[in-house]
Amino acid sequence: MKAAVLTEFKHIEWKDVPEPEFGDTEVLIKVSYASICGSDQHVYNGEFGPRVTLPVIQGHEFVGTVADMGREVRGYKEGDRVAVDPIVWCGECPACQIQHYPACTSLRLIGIDMDGGFAEYAAADASMLYPVAPVVSDRDAALTEPYSIGFHASKRAEIKKGDTLAFYGGGKIGQHIMQAARTITDNTLFLVDIVDKRLELAKSAYPDIITINALRENPVDVISVHGESVSAHENHGGSIIDQRFHVVFIFSMNHLHSGNPYCTVVYGTVFREYNHFVLHAVRDR
Ligand SMILES: [Zn+2]
Ligand SMILES: [Zn+2]
Repeated sequence: MKAAVLTEFKHIEWKDVPEPEFGDTEVLIKVSYASICGSDQHVYNGEFGPRVTLPVIQGHEFVGTVADMGREVRGYKEGDRVAVDPIVWCGECPACQIQHYPACTSLRLIGIDMDGGFAEYAAADASMLYPVAPVVSDRDAALTEPYSIGFHASKRAEIKKGDTLAFYGGGKIGQHIMQAARTITDNTLFLVDIVDKRLELAKSAYPDIITINALRENPVDVISVHGESVSAHENHGGSIIDQRFHVVFIFSMNHLHSGNPYCTVVYGTVFREYNHFVLHAVRDR
């Protein structure tokens, strides 16, 4: 098969490689779409350190059809469309015991720690597959993993219909969380970032959101002004802080824990102190 192989950092070759082998509980997937995650870019640049062994086929956000399967696989047949949960967890460690699988002490990810979806075929355990509904295109279904973050964050933040929300950070994950939240509330959404193209991207898809570039405007001031008008319009009365109001922080931890390329998602009820803290973090970035 053909695959995009990261043979050395910052160098991908489109080349012939053997099809992946699959075990008794695994499925061979004919990949139709794969998307490029922020972490793929870090891996490509060699920023994941010794964790990555080359050569590797990247790609953990992908979708495809069942091409073949191990003899113990049940519930799937050839041609079924499936999206893949790329997290391989142990099931034994303390984190796994409380179903907090992304914190598994021996966590491995398809497309980072083992070959992934930037190829004609990829293999994954049947337990990691999710059937794709006919109304969802392959192109959209390739984004199942980042959208799952968006919906999970919305759930953990207990976002409800009618909530007013502020999002700090409009990168890839921030945009997914904002879009997921938009399916729950039709009230005012604020998106704060320091990169105009991110704000413009969000605005082009959601013209009614309020975008704030924190290098030019103080988010607290903008949110307070709109908050008061939202408050008056909704007849809540009182200040913005009294309303049911959430802020969702998504920002790179690069400069807080140097060398750590992960971003963090924090959610909670807004206070001014949080706003100031995040504003400084964003400005320092
Ligand atoms: Zn990803
Ligand atoms: Zn574990």
